[in-house]
Amino acid sequence: LVKRLEKNMSQVSGYEAGQDKAEIKKKYNIEEPIKLASNENPYGPSPEVKDVIADETARVAEYPASKATELREALADFYDLSTEMVFTGNGTDEIIGLLVELFNGEEDEIIYPDPSFAKYKLYIQSKNANGVAVTLDDDLRLDLDRMAEEINKKTGMIFLCDPNNPTGTMQQKSKIREFINAVPDDILVVLDQAYHEYMTSGEYYQGLDELAERPNLLILRTFSKAYGLAGLRVGYGLGSAEIIHYLDQIRDTFNCNRIAQRAAIAALRDQQHIQMSRAKNQQEREYLYQELDQAGIDYIKSEANFLLIAAPGDSREAAARLESKGIIVKPGAPLGVPGMLRVTVGSRTENEILIEKLQELH
Ligand code: PMP
Repeated sequence: LVKRLEKNMSQVSGYEAGQDKAEIKKKYNIEEPIKLASNENPYGPSPEVKDVIADETARVAEYPASKATELREALADFYDLSTEMVFTGNGTDEIIGLLVELFNGEEDEIIYPDPSFAKYKLYIQSKNANGVAVTLDDDLRLDLDRMAEEINKKTGMIFLCDPNNPTGTMQQKSKIREFINAVPDDILVVLDQAYHEYMTSGEYYQGLDELAERPNLLILRTFSKAYGLAGLRVGYGLGSAEIIHYLDQIRDTFNCNRIAQRAAIAALRDQQHIQMSRAKNQQEREYLYQELDQAGIDYIKSEANFLLIAAPGDSREAAARLESKGIIVKPGAPLGVPGMLRVTVGSRTENEILIEKLQELH
């Protein structure tokens, strides 16, 4: 059996899941580890979410609404789109997997950036799709010219990630727009904007205005980051009803749980919380830049709520040493950025401790 599995899975390079707080707590006997590894919101979700969660727990014996209609309606309202243009999933992770399933025929190719969000490559491998990886440009941004060069008759889908994870870099608005407009309309362009709510630059491409004219564009956003609901798993896609129809055909029947649906609606209503989270993230990112400059530690400027910081030597070793000091970050090596650590921008207290522990390593 093991031999069989090894053979069937030989094309899958695998995903290195990070350590969670409970593991580190136990391993090093640390009271309260600080996790800066998954780009979560250090301020949590909107306070409005707590009450609806408590209320919804009374109903967990009942299956959730299969289509998450109220949540889709709330999102449609929020974005001024029709409900048919909204898809909800068990995190954008699930949606990325479903999208790959739509294009895993022998004759299909999927173009994706690399390094980028690891799940594009992983799902392409595990679902037996044909992937075409395109490296980033010299400034670590999406190399749209090279992606365009890879387009051929087989191309079924293109993943774009903006800002890109793990680099935190953003591509210019005009370049993304130009690229999307030039892609033949029988190719699906998926624009993953997991960090959308954190964006402040006028050069950031929002994409929504183009949706009406570009039915081959799907935008992915999530409640896991600025909305602070990573633990509930809600992501969504905005795009043409035809694409969403096919995603609905193949998703799990109850892919968005009850509590998640209610909490996401409540979170969406509290835009003040998003503004606060965005402002604090910007302020704390600046604080980190300043402290890293002072400590003489290299880093890459980011548009998102995480940044790449130079590791002293091997990134896995550095991450392990930080873990033993109670700080969980992502080593860059498995993310395709060796020698770096991907670190979430935390609260001021978390950031102060991070800087202190980083200095001990260097
Ligand atoms: N896309 C990107 C670029 C991400 O960074 C992440 C989270 N790490 C996801 C998608 C998946 O997010 P979720 O499944 O929590 O919505």
